[in-house]
Amino acid sequence: YYRRSWSSESSDSVISSESGNAFYRVVLIGEQGVGKTTIANVFAGVHDSMDSDCEVLGEDTYERTLLVDGESTNIMLVDMWENKGVNGWIQDHCMQIGDAYLIVYSITDRASFERASELRIQLRRARQAEDIPIILVGNKSDLVRCREVSVAEGRACAVVFDCKFIETSAAVQHNVKELFEGIVRQVRLRRDSKEK
Ligand code: GDP
Repeated sequence: YYRRSWSSESSDSVISSESGNAFYRVVLIGEQGVGKTTIANVFAGVHDSMDSDCEVLGEDTYERTLLVDGESTNIMLVDMWENKGVNGWIQDHCMQIGDAYLIVYSITDRASFERASELRIQLRRARQAEDIPIILVGNKSDLVRCREVSVAEGRACAVVFDCKFIETSAAVQHNVKELFEGIVRQVRLRRDSKEK
């Protein structure tokens, strides 16, 4: 699937996996050092707290089936934002391929919070007509004494940007499962409203 997603000319929102089930591409974006890869590793079950197997499809792409509210959904998580490529083409590519996005900042780093807002705007420009599920993720919530961005600010930012919000700690695995359950629910809401 990894290669196919790279060579794909279209940005079809749902592709079939070889087993015939739909899977959704969830893309991690955000400033370097905020914890994207650590979140991806929790998703991949390096320290398993979720209840299914994960297939590692490439260095920075992971697929797993999540059972949420009694229904299975296949999620492909893409963590290639740091591989900037020539002239940032990988980041442009990332802006195009996601069915859903996790915009991550660190609660200990205000600049990363500001960057998250910029990325939200960039994403809106790149995918103008589309209603893409986005969760704003304030990571490193375990570092309480280094906090630079309050929960209220994170929540307010999500309201302005019309997306969901959650604080996580990938390091101690707090709220990471809830984060992925949240994105699965968001994806399903969009899917169900399209079917009607
Ligand atoms: P990326 O550049 O966004 O992929 O960030 P990384 O996942 O490489 O994480 C950058 C650094 O932050 C690493 O040293 C991680 O161990 C650390 N880190 C990531 N998530 C957390 C977290 O929730 N809490 C704490 N305390 N450290 C974290």
